[in-house]
Amino acid sequence: MKLLENKVSIITGATRGIGKGIAERFAEEGSHVIFTYVSSDAKAKALEDELKAKGVNAKGYKFNVADLAACEEMAVDVVKEFGSIDVVVNNAGITRDTLLMRMSEEQWDEVMNTNLKSVFNMTKAVQRTMLKQRSGSIVNMSSVVGVKGNAGQANYAASKAGILGFTKSVALELGSRNIRCNAIAPGFIETEMTGALDEATVQSWREAIPLKRGGTPEDVANLALFLASDMSAYITGQTIHVDGGMLT
Ligand code: NDP
Repeated sequence: MKLLENKVSIITGATRGIGKGIAERFAEEGSHVIFTYVSSDAKAKALEDELKAKGVNAKGYKFNVADLAACEEMAVDVVKEFGSIDVVVNNAGITRDTLLMRMSEEQWDEVMNTNLKSVFNMTKAVQRTMLKQRSGSIVNMSSVVGVKGNAGQANYAASKAGILGFTKSVALELGSRNIRCNAIAPGFIETEMTGALDEATVQSWREAIPLKRGGTPEDVANLALFLASDMSAYITGQTIHVDGGMLT
């Protein structure tokens, strides 16, 4: 028996990196995958085809997750077409790094809206369906930076720390209806988001990690799978680190 057999999962920001890794892992475990993206049309089409080839249904939606109405519209559509919403992975995120001294209001707002408001939007959009079902698992992508802070990332760190407070509150509000809500705090995961950094910096980061390597999208996807599935049926309100021991 596969871990997510016939479940319906929504994953935000799945055309690249961690979200794509999660989409692939979920599909391998039998979940139908509805994913979102904002610009990569060709990658979205390729992912739909790749997931369908694994024997599940897959559908990409193009919209900005910072837009509540768009999230609600998608949730209604998914219930109509797929019948339920069992899992939501709030993964979409961006960085607009700079020191506070130089940070514009726009850079602050863009990161807060894409990374934090989106989590409110998507959770709100699926809440009614999960309440009716009396089941659901919500997985929110935070970051080591949300726990520890980081110079040059005050906007990003605030958005990721905000996710932790939101996660714990939702776990408290919805636990009695068997809806779980947990956060993942990845450390340094090698994706396009981190690919923009220079190799010397990246190498020094790898050396500082107890497991001596950057993480892969698969490393994070395995944790997301655990939190999405009944393997974690008695776990809610938690932040689980997948960082090679970085914060130890
Ligand atoms: P990527 O930049 O590789 O991918 C981001 C994904 O989010 C893309 O699919 C992108 O779509 C989508 N996206 C971006 N903005 C929006 C938006 N406004 N609306 C809808 N979709 C959007 O990111 P990663 O895979 O590296 O990161 C994924 C998550 O993990 C993020 O929340 C990030 O903060 C977090 N994280 C990453 C770490 C790392 O080391 N990589 C470490 C800790 C946390 P499109 O392709 O169309 O642009």
